[in-house]
Amino acid sequence: MELAPLQEEQPKEQYVDMLRRAGMRPTKQRLMLMDFIFQKGDRHFTVEELYAEVRADGTSMALATVYNTVNSFANHGLLSRISLDDQRTWFDTNKSDHHHFFVEGTHELIDIPKGDIKLSVFLVFPMVVNWWVWISLSA
Ligand SMILES: [Zn+2]
Repeated sequence: MELAPLQEEQPKEQYVDMLRRAGMRPTKQRLMLMDFIFQKGDRHFTVEELYAEVRADGTSMALATVYNTVNSFANHGLLSRISLDDQRTWFDTNKSDHHHFFVEGTHELIDIPKGDIKLSVFLVFPMVVNWWVWISLSA
């Protein structure tokens, strides 16, 4: 039996494509941040969290640059913006229509698929989380 050759993934090309389609120039800094943002699949993050990841990786980038770039991604439709209150804004790589549970203890957002809010969710989650606030992307 012959094994098919492994397909080499080229995430960088994919990011260049995403930026172009969003009408943004693929600059080095943008591509670098996209790698941090999109390599882990669907996720939520704050600018501060992303900045901490960038720093932990040894990449030198100013907080203002991370802030401006991420907001610019959101303005161009590459990310969704989730504001819980005036002080806290999360960014979401999952742009499909869905709801969130906010876990107070860990400041984490959990995706709840649209139309999937059933009693079972309320029975399972209390074992994991103490407090949550249900927010909708459309809020
Ligand atoms: Zn989400």
